[in-house]
Amino acid sequence: MIKLFNTLTRKKEEFKPIKTKEVGIYSCGLTVYNYGHIGNFRAFVFADLLHRYFEYKGFKVKHITNITDVDDKTIRDSQKEKLSLKQFTSKYEKAFFEDIKTLNIKESFKYPKATEHIKEMVSIIKKLLDKGYAYKTDDGIYFKISKDKEYGKLAHLKFADLEAGASERVTKDEYDKENVQDFCLWKFYDKLDGDVFWDTEIGKGRPGWHIECSAMSMKYLGETFDIHTGGIDLIFPHHENEIAQSECATGKKFVNYWLHNEFILVDGKKMSKSLGNFYTYRDVLAKGYSGMEIRYSLLSTHYRIPFNFTFEGLDSARNSLKRLNEFVNRLNFVKSDKDSKKVSDLIKNVKKEFEESLDDDLNIANALASIFGFISEINKLKISKKEAKEILKTLNEFDQVLGLNLISKKESIPKEIKELMDKREKYRKEKDWKKADEIRDKLKEKGFVLEDTKEGIIWKKA
Ligand SMILES: [Zn+2]
Repeated sequence: MIKLFNTLTRKKEEFKPIKTKEVGIYSCGLTVYNYGHIGNFRAFVFADLLHRYFEYKGFKVKHITNITDVDDKTIRDSQKEKLSLKQFTSKYEKAFFEDIKTLNIKESFKYPKATEHIKEMVSIIKKLLDKGYAYKTDDGIYFKISKDKEYGKLAHLKFADLEAGASERVTKDEYDKENVQDFCLWKFYDKLDGDVFWDTEIGKGRPGWHIECSAMSMKYLGETFDIHTGGIDLIFPHHENEIAQSECATGKKFVNYWLHNEFILVDGKKMSKSLGNFYTYRDVLAKGYSGMEIRYSLLSTHYRIPFNFTFEGLDSARNSLKRLNEFVNRLNFVKSDKDSKKVSDLIKNVKKEFEESLDDDLNIANALASIFGFISEINKLKISKKEAKEILKTLNEFDQVLGLNLISKKESIPKEIKELMDKREKYRKEKDWKKADEIRDKLKEKGFVLEDTKEGIIWKKA
């Protein structure tokens, strides 16, 4: 039984899917006006963990991650760079797909783009106009929050805020809780938008940001679906508005479980360009960290705890990952036929702990602690080749969830290297340590490190 913390109720709830053993997940994706920053990728790595854990538990996962390729920011910055909206956004869209690949984020079922779903948005807005939830002004079509008695249920807004805001309007896509107001569904054409507009039944113009996600999520997952994810900064106004538009248009509950990951801090401070502590994922890669190390770092803090990003933290992620990989590598060299007879119980325990932790609102920190505890116990034993295989199989199962590429196939070594290793073995038997050490150094130059372990001499790539 999986329990998830639902922002709507502010409680951990047992997850009950709409369809048996199937789950629909919608994740707010990247606004492609820049390279994704580490906070964006924390949200995507979290959604990936959710996706992978449901698959581990035998669910069929239909995951939708959208691409916001038209909004106030993309238009503003494409004009600054004197590029068409499409030329401008496609550069960052391409980068996004490269980035999620190096972070080993599982492919979503679809990556819908806002600009390709205008028809669906117009259809929702028409329904809202018909039902009296939306009204037209000179500059656009707005959602009337005073008409929606449930407005504010996700962000837990106070009635007084709604009263104060109900008589005003906000045209911009982004605003805060202090400015609860009627928000824009459709922005009538303004020459400042240049050549970005669509001629539609509800007028010439472009969509507001919030309606985009309502249209794309319902198109692929239905009018009611299981899970919607995003960063906590999206609770208000973005997700609050998604609920209002969708539920008033369909008359049905929009989403059963709302999951939000906490924000990211850099060295304990809010990440901002003005503080000079703003990092895109690519900035961190450029400092010499691998996608897997960054993934481990983003993954290892529970999603509902603010994540403090530091380079020391990345170094420690690097060490943890190295420990895991070295353990896996050593298992490949076990030759003994003699069972320790203790491995199967340890495997049973670690599996139980791993699943209990993740069932509990994806408590990844506990799940990882169990794996490291398991490794320490195994390291105390003399295990057989058969047991090593069992352990590898278990780690492989865990890695379906962690996505750390732990189980790479045992690499084959070039013939020349093998010959050098055999030669060194011969010198060692003859106790010619000098010559043996010379070969060890030579191997190191060629990128192969030898290590003496209780399983005998093992090698790994430097
Ligand atoms: Zn969204």
